[in-house]
Amino acid sequence: MRSLALIPLFLFLILSGCGPGANGLSSSTQDDPQVRTPNPNPSAQTYFSSCESNDPEVHCIGLKVVSFENQSGNPVLKESETLKLIAEMNEVWKTCKVAFQLEKFQSLQPESVGLPYSPDWKRDSDSIRAHFDEDNRFLIVAVGPWTNSTIAVAQMPGNGPYGVLVSEKYAKNPYTVGHELGHYQGLYHLRNKKNLMNSYIGPLTSGLGSAQCAIARRTNLRYWQKMLRGRGALL
Ligand SMILES: [Zn+2]
Repeated sequence: MRSLALIPLFLFLILSGCGPGANGLSSSTQDDPQVRTPNPNPSAQTYFSSCESNDPEVHCIGLKVVSFENQSGNPVLKESETLKLIAEMNEVWKTCKVAFQLEKFQSLQPESVGLPYSPDWKRDSDSIRAHFDEDNRFLIVAVGPWTNSTIAVAQMPGNGPYGVLVSEKYAKNPYTVGHELGHYQGLYHLRNKKNLMNSYIGPLTSGLGSAQCAIARRTNLRYWQKMLRGRGALL
């Protein structure tokens, strides 16, 4: 079990995309000029809402999303695209009463901190995770194109640094990133073309079964208490 936890899990190819927007909040950003604070004007108000719920069973998980920028300054994931992605993933995960909220969004040219825009996932994943990992939020890093057919990786609970890395082509896909968040929450692959944890992601791979929900929720309580917000964190 422990040895499996050390193995980064990865997916290959094929996806579809789609869906609406989500919400988040930000805090203690003064020390980091690369972290954007939410616009306080009324039109940005929804940005402050969150997945915290009066339902004590909801696991509301804080997210930090880092988007790499290419040399022209174009981010793999824009902030608006990140919010949309999270809303779409929340649709997938709501069957488990698990939801995510954006708390920090950072867009930067990775070379400015000594990291490659197009990483080799075997060589670079841990250094990227270690650079951005925080102990109270799940981490998603949208990187440039990779050098092989892997499209996303996640570290299972048990041995950090933690974080999902997803290559640019799939960074907006809620089934790809949602699948990786499944690994984050202790789920392994399942052979089922309608399940989120199928190793090949396609237009129908969005399902989660009750046994998977139970594992994810148990994992969250065991490993990710610091990531949980609201009343769900107290149970
Ligand atoms: Zn996987």
